[in-house]
Amino acid sequence: MSSPKIYYDSDADLGLLKDKRIVFLGFGNQGSAQAQNLRDSGFSNILIANRVDHYADYARAKGFTVEHDFGKAAEQADVLFILIPDQVQPRVFNTYFAPKLKDDVCIVVASGYNVFFKLLNFKPTQDVVMVAPRMIGSSVRSLYEKGRGFPCFTSVEYEGTGNAMSLALAVSKGIGATKAGAISSSAREETAMDLFAEQALWPNIILLFKEAFEVLKEAGCSDEALCYEMWMSKEPAEIFERAAEDGFILQLKHHSSVSQYGQLNGADKLDGSAIRAHFKDILYNQVLNGKFCKEFSAMEDALEKEGLENPLQQLYAKNEASIMGQAEKRVRARLANII
Ligand code: NDP
Repeated sequence: MSSPKIYYDSDADLGLLKDKRIVFLGFGNQGSAQAQNLRDSGFSNILIANRVDHYADYARAKGFTVEHDFGKAAEQADVLFILIPDQVQPRVFNTYFAPKLKDDVCIVVASGYNVFFKLLNFKPTQDVVMVAPRMIGSSVRSLYEKGRGFPCFTSVEYEGTGNAMSLALAVSKGIGATKAGAISSSAREETAMDLFAEQALWPNIILLFKEAFEVLKEAGCSDEALCYEMWMSKEPAEIFERAAEDGFILQLKHHSSVSQYGQLNGADKLDGSAIRAHFKDILYNQVLNGKFCKEFSAMEDALEKEGLENPLQQLYAKNEASIMGQAEKRVRARLANII
């Protein structure tokens, strides 16, 4: 497989956005950061589309014009950023925006999910591009303010006007992403990696921590010692920070020789075939085939409910009741002053 193309500031022409009406649907994590970055890049023609609530108030407090009528906002948009949670995008976009959008609008998404699973009803004359920062919104904003870039995936997902790539690059530059280099990607790649991490990698890490906790507790280790040893000391956070800076394996050189040898030798002896098969099963039979997407879409209403009627809250409650969850609760209550 060839290396992806990396786009820098010099590859993008901000002039393409000059006379365009730019509409942001949503002023949350990404919306507030990207709208402010774009404005600071010289574009004042920005409209925020948001329901009446604190996000709208926040946008106004930051000096933006806010439109509560989504149809009116849609009619004006030459470029539309869809920056509301992924699970509500299809309903909001398809109901309120799609019928009113211009035929040549450029639709910008920050996640591949709804495009890859074909949940957005755009027209074949319209452009759909992905500009997906690999950073939380507050970092997208603070790195821009410091004059630094941030990692970002950029792609054309649907070419309607013949100009989609140039617009995707102009948008990437406008929000500050081409300063560090925007990486050419695709909705498929972004969705596969995101959902794989969320549904295969991290669930296994959660499981490993729970099992390790119970084994060590059975061996006589105290809850307090375990919570600190395993995560409350923030050692894992430091390890990942070093991994980003020095290298995933080379960060080990900051550890003792006993630790370095134990980790490398231990990993070397493990047989990865079962986990590899499990990972492939999740990737192909749950993520890429749309099984998870279908199940998750069916939960949209339930996820809005309060308390244990909400499936996400049920899972939190189950974890809180686990041995590790109960132990952490006790430890946090007892050691409130030193955490
Ligand atoms: P947020 O949860 O911060 O979105 C909040 C915004 O969405 C608010 O403006 C809110 O306004 C609006 N919103 C929420 N529900 C609805 C609804 N039912 N109808 C209309 N508007 C609604 O989203 P993020 O910024 O986290 O995510 C936006 C996109 O960016 C997603 O595609 C996500 O995958 C992607 N992304 C997010 C990252 C992150 O750091 N969070 C990182 C990279 C990409 P109100 O409630 O007032 O209607």
